[in-house]
Amino acid sequence: MVEIVGLHKVFGSQHVLQGIDLEVNAGEVMCVIGPSGSGKSTLLRCVNRLEIPDAGRVYVDGVLMGYREKRDRLYDLRPKEIAAQRRPIGMVFQRFNLFQNMTALENVMEAPIRVAGEAKDIVRDRAVSALERVGLGNHCDHYPLQLSGGQQQRVAIARALAMQPRLMLFDEPTSALDPELVGDVLDVMRELAQSGMTMMVVTHEIGFAREVGDRLVFMADGRVVESGDAREVLENPQNPRTARFLDAVL
Ligand code: ADP
Ligand code: MG
Repeated sequence: MVEIVGLHKVFGSQHVLQGIDLEVNAGEVMCVIGPSGSGKSTLLRCVNRLEIPDAGRVYVDGVLMGYREKRDRLYDLRPKEIAAQRRPIGMVFQRFNLFQNMTALENVMEAPIRVAGEAKDIVRDRAVSALERVGLGNHCDHYPLQLSGGQQQRVAIARALAMQPRLMLFDEPTSALDPELVGDVLDVMRELAQSGMTMMVVTHEIGFAREVGDRLVFMADGRVVESGDAREVLENPQNPRTARFLDAVL
């Protein structure tokens, strides 16, 4: 579902991604951990082309992100074409960024109508289902300020689901939440994983990685230091840096 080949990203004088190679199979949950500043968010943002890599390729479901391939040559896509490539990729951020002046339902309906140009009544049914799926079927008419942080994050997940994604990217989705609200969001993500969704999850929730993650990637200084079966990496890290990081967070 995702193939990342030789990915590099530079910001100014900072070489933030230094040659990342990763594959995520369909239905797999890949968790990404690592110290702050190691490039985890940049990696996710390169997958859906919120950042443009300086080198390397990203394929999502066989589609080369950002380019059209023609007779062994690459042609840059226009923003509109990139937006179309991005459509099957849902992303959930640390900050939920809901529209404050819209209800939960309106937030979830917004992208399918505005971005995908779908008909309102079809979208409404799907949006209600998405909110039911995240446990907020009876909060459709609530505004973000009337919802807890955890509920807002679940609306953000429903908003991504309403676009019927084939891949979901999560960038520290529970880091901004009060501890007692983390569990409900992780439950929704667990259910999503069990339903067969392909997911890349940047998280500090090691318990989630152990329980739900198929694969675990440890990043440091823009490189994949270690990657493997989530439970094996957690129990028996091969790289001393991974071991030190896990000792510090567990
Ligand atoms: P992580 O998510 O692992 O904490 P990030 O991918 O956010 O790491 O950032 C990696 C490095 O790249 C950091 O040093 C950060 O300051 C830098 N960085 C990220 N985005 C930008 C940007 N848009 N412009 C300049 N530097 C950036
Ligand atoms: Mg980050």
